[in-house]
Amino acid sequence: MQYVWDDKGNKYLDVHTGHGAAFLGHSNPYVIEEIKKQLGKIMVTPLAFESDVRDQCLEMLDKILPPYLRNVFFQNSGTEAVELALKLAKKVTYRKKVVAFRNSFHGRTLGSLLVTWNPKYRKPFFAESSDVIFLKYNSVDDVEKFVTEDVAAVIVEVVQGEGGLAVASEEFLKTIRSRCDEVGCVVVFDEVQSGFGRTGKIWAHQHYNTKPDIITAGKAIAGGFPVSIVAARDWLVSEIETGEHGTTHGGNPLACAALIGGIKAFIKDNVVERVSENSKVLRGKLEEVAKKHKLVRAVKGLGYMVGLELRVPPTNVLKILQENGILALKAGLTVLRLLPPYMITYSDMERLMSVIDYAIGKEEANRGIH
Ligand SMILES: *Cc1c(COP(=O)(O)O)cnc(C)c1O
Repeated sequence: MQYVWDDKGNKYLDVHTGHGAAFLGHSNPYVIEEIKKQLGKIMVTPLAFESDVRDQCLEMLDKILPPYLRNVFFQNSGTEAVELALKLAKKVTYRKKVVAFRNSFHGRTLGSLLVTWNPKYRKPFFAESSDVIFLKYNSVDDVEKFVTEDVAAVIVEVVQGEGGLAVASEEFLKTIRSRCDEVGCVVVFDEVQSGFGRTGKIWAHQHYNTKPDIITAGKAIAGGFPVSIVAARDWLVSEIETGEHGTTHGGNPLACAALIGGIKAFIKDNVVERVSENSKVLRGKLEEVAKKHKLVRAVKGLGYMVGLELRVPPTNVLKILQENGILALKAGLTVLRLLPPYMITYSDMERLMSVIDYAIGKEEANRGIH
């Protein structure tokens, strides 16, 4: 479901979805059913032991993962998945340098923080490393110049989420791929936010003719249950020996059940087709609103990972939206971001647009912009 209610009974259309985690809506029936089935059986099975529900989950993942990325590690959060992706790359290349990009966001644990651009998140925790370099997003020249033979991995979001909804260019991703092939480094696409149908393809990189060595996924994949995965090529996992990496809760039976439910919903409800079609309508409406208002610079993003770049921070606009029954969020400094669940209807979109139109108009009036 795409709605939530507060303690006073007010109803909200949720296009915040917990940073995209509720992309399958709240209380998705497929997810609930699978969790319920598992709940009474067993809740802890360490990875060292076989587990039916985990095997079934891996079979379901085969339906959505690219055929060359069928080695799956289960984790619990996006940041853990990123940590593991970087560990794999370092182990297999025997190098320590990592290339990331300006405005990137890859998580808040110390390893992922090192490749997260915004100093606000890093500085208080001394998360800085001379082994990490940040290049300009979409700069082909930078990739050609700075991805050298001492680089273990290039980590990149195909569509930047927290950083402001920039979309990778075809040439950029292709250059990352070809440059990494030349110098022998690992291409990591962080699809924690952009993956699982969010952009109108199963994985955002499938809009492009480029193949990564590793993807990370999380946020929405288990219908809101905390699950993340790393999916990697064969040559990356053969180097990892038993006991070198581990996780207590990763691959937990309840988490696997939630993931099975998530993928069932994803397939049965034709999530990819729906997002691909309906996001065009949403985009059209956003373009109309953008044209009407001087406060709006541009429409940003891809699929159901969209927003409006404003000339000011979206703080007041978000407040007005919330007062009028819409939950949305920000990206970067000035982007109003919308992460709708896949079942959002045309009438939801109509309402969403009229409230956004109103909120931006009000903010323009407040600021004396005409
Ligand atoms: C949210 C996000 C993460 C971190 O995920 P958590 O589950 O919050 O740890 C990593 N990468 C990207 C691209 C994200 O959007």
